[in-house]
Amino acid sequence: MTAVRDPHPCLACGACCAAFRVSFYWGEGPERGLPEALTERVNDFYACMRGTWRAAPRCTALQGEVGQATQCSVYAARPSPCREVQPGDSQCTAARARHQLAPLALAQSELESRCTTIPA
Ligand code: SF4
Ligand code: SF4
Repeated sequence: MTAVRDPHPCLACGACCAAFRVSFYWGEGPERGLPEALTERVNDFYACMRGTWRAAPRCTALQGEVGQATQCSVYAARPSPCREVQPGDSQCTAARARHQLAPLALAQSELESRCTTIPA
């Protein structure tokens, strides 16, 4: 019998894409191939994902409904902050709380996997 794995929790979340300013050294954008229209300048050194520098942040690259089903439209080119957040870490927990989502309760093996919001 083949075991059926549960879908990755990020596929039904996306909260960390709609909770913080996602800022990074501006040179990362062109280096990774991020469309310039999806970023905005913070200062001479930093840019951020457009839509995340506001009181109710939501990255314009995020598709879907937070807490239901979401997808990153630029997954392969996403900047370093998006690559650093881990399912179940403190940023994840804070982001989920902001959207009234409970903290993840995952096995250690799952906690070690990277955020997958979400390979298209
Ligand atoms: S890392 Fe956490 S907050 Fe971000 S999409 Fe995955 S489960 Fe949601
Ligand atoms: S993972 Fe994608 S949708 Fe989420 S903040 Fe980063 S670029 Fe935006």
